[in-house]
Amino acid sequence: MLLPGATIGVLGGGQLGRMMAIAARQMGYRIVVLDPSGRCPTAQVADGTVVGALDDAASAIHLAKQVDVITLDTEHVPADVLDQLEQYAPVRPSPRVLRTIQDRLVQKQFLDARGLPQAAWAPADDLDAALAKVGRPAIAKVRRAGYDGKGQVRIEDDASVIQRLRGEPAVVEELVRFTREISVVLARGLRGDIAIYPIAENVHRKHVLHTTRAPAPNAPAKAAELAVAVAEALDHVGVIAVEMFELPGGALLVNEIAPRTHNSGHYTYGACATSQFEQHVRAICGLPLGDPRALTGAVMVNLIGDLWAKGPPRWAAVLERPEARLHLYGKDLAAPGRKMGHVTLLDDDTDRALRTAEELIDVLGSDSAHGHAGL
Ligand code: AMP
Repeated sequence: MLLPGATIGVLGGGQLGRMMAIAARQMGYRIVVLDPSGRCPTAQVADGTVVGALDDAASAIHLAKQVDVITLDTEHVPADVLDQLEQYAPVRPSPRVLRTIQDRLVQKQFLDARGLPQAAWAPADDLDAALAKVGRPAIAKVRRAGYDGKGQVRIEDDASVIQRLRGEPAVVEELVRFTREISVVLARGLRGDIAIYPIAENVHRKHVLHTTRAPAPNAPAKAAELAVAVAEALDHVGVIAVEMFELPGGALLVNEIAPRTHNSGHYTYGACATSQFEQHVRAICGLPLGDPRALTGAVMVNLIGDLWAKGPPRWAAVLERPEARLHLYGKDLAAPGRKMGHVTLLDDDTDRALRTAEELIDVLGSDSAHGHAGL
């Protein structure tokens, strides 16, 4: 067991690392982060920062020598780099988990090999054969480094797809006509113990998560079983999120596996007895897992950079609502499509909270020139 006072190394300094670092420091752990920017969201709340690229083994080793355990803010750290770190400190999740997840082709083969359900797919190398297998319309996704819909192309005409993928290896998937998207966030400890959060219902806009509601109404119990099967098959340690499509008949397909804390689990901070961030710290440090139980219903809505287009968002609209919690990630530049923060609405009436979320987004993004100065 790595007890408080130990040092956790985080590869990648985004908002997930930041929120984990806040939880870790609250519990008395130290945090050292590796990121190309010394001003990244995690560095702002860390004890130490190594400035370097995530695929630079020398920088990662420099971090590894200072810490007791290593974890990740993103699954896009090359597994080969992670392999080299294991001689200095345990890497959790292990490089093997990352090797399976970070290439969509390998991830899909892994799911197939274990009989876990997913959308029909094929490698995009032979596009005609792939489309013959999955049908049209279809979605092409680059195998590596795609997230939030980046590196995804809806297949309208074949020539444009090949151009837009720029020759990058890709897979093709059937377009799934789902009734809704759900996700299961769970933690798996060093001894294989598991703590499952309430199942979340997610709405995406432009391929980016917009809202999460938890618990998902009429959540299918088998979703949790599926997520546990994924975590156990990977021998994962830490928090993991499994995103799924629910089909009209109630069947589930795994869409994506994220071997880390997840945007659809942000609501756990405030709504659950133990947040996903504390839970991840507990899992990678070999502590007993905390209680994942929800204390209230919740809706999380993402604050995307577009909201800043007309000036600073009208924060007063969030701050004046007692059920709302504002989280901002400390990013300098509010680029369109960039996740800048989120608001969690703690409300057992999640239908009402979803309506509140939409109202807030409208008000936050509206022109602040009419007397409502942003804070
Ligand atoms: P991903 O980055 O693969 O999680 O995709 C982001 C979002 O795009 C998903 O959450 C869905 O809303 C949508 N999407 C991805 N793949 C498919 C698919 N095969 N069929 C329908 N929608 C999809």
